[in-house]
Amino acid sequence: MGGDFGVVKVTPERGTPQLNFALEHGRADKDVMRASRQQTTIARPCIVSGRGFWSGRLNTLTFLPASAGSGVRFVRADLPNCPSVPALSDFGSGMPLRTRLASGPAVVDMVEHVMSALYGLQIDNVEVHCTESEMPGLDGSSHAYALALSAAGKRVLDAPRKELIVSQPKQFGDEQRFVRIEPLPLHGSIRKLQLEYQLDFGGQSPVPSGNFQWTILPDQYLEQIAPARTFISWEDAQKLRSQGLGAHVTERDLLVFGEHGPIDNQLRFDDECCRHKLLDLIGDLALAGCDLVGRVIACRSGHQLNAELATWLRNLAQQELECHQHHAA
Ligand SMILES: [Zn+2]
Repeated sequence: MGGDFGVVKVTPERGTPQLNFALEHGRADKDVMRASRQQTTIARPCIVSGRGFWSGRLNTLTFLPASAGSGVRFVRADLPNCPSVPALSDFGSGMPLRTRLASGPAVVDMVEHVMSALYGLQIDNVEVHCTESEMPGLDGSSHAYALALSAAGKRVLDAPRKELIVSQPKQFGDEQRFVRIEPLPLHGSIRKLQLEYQLDFGGQSPVPSGNFQWTILPDQYLEQIAPARTFISWEDAQKLRSQGLGAHVTERDLLVFGEHGPIDNQLRFDDECCRHKLLDLIGDLALAGCDLVGRVIACRSGHQLNAELATWLRNLAQQELECHQHHAA
């Protein structure tokens, strides 16, 4: 399933990010908000369109450059007065199989793959104008989004990007299924977000178990993460179809696992399922609204658990900023 995504000409980035430690404060044993790179937006608008997996409705997304500090915002261009919702966990609800953002009439659904592409490519400020609530499902991955955004190019803005350095471990879930963040040993200037996803549906499942680790590196997102497609078991696919959902989606549009592996389809990576769960995790953590420094380990977690962690991180970042502003005043 395609969706024709119009892409604009690429121009070289203007300038390079400069280090800025102006917001640095606090003790080493405490969570710290600071800034290590400049904020970005896209250099040119770009368009991605396609049908939603659940609704089957065509949605055309127009990504527009936005100013520093505005973050990612979804605009319902199809509704009167074009209501909008910021891509922050304050407006999120982790549904069992998807992530929804809502503010009054501005409701957008299945935003995780769009958010994953933006966060994975470190594009911080953008307006996403939509013509429907459900994001295009495309091939079940974030590849078309990442391709269009990469081709649009990045523009560096004159403002520091806020970064939350996590200093204490925090876990959501139980022993079977959890997502946890831990502090990262700080070696000099190496501050990054390391991610690990552990997938294990048990020996009976046709979905291969695995473990995938990745560190957010915008130069690698397009090739390493973006092509990994979503997956579903044949039984679950039948259940959804019987409820009238995803009626137009076929085994060629995403990975449907039967007894002997993907039906009528081939894996793009041996560990494609695990990579896709990591793609989702990136999109869900993006709703924290800042860069994160730490190590996240997710074991069989889904959008609901990921959303709990993102909300906790978002609140922590807000507290740190308030604390900083208080000290600065
Ligand atoms: Zn997904």
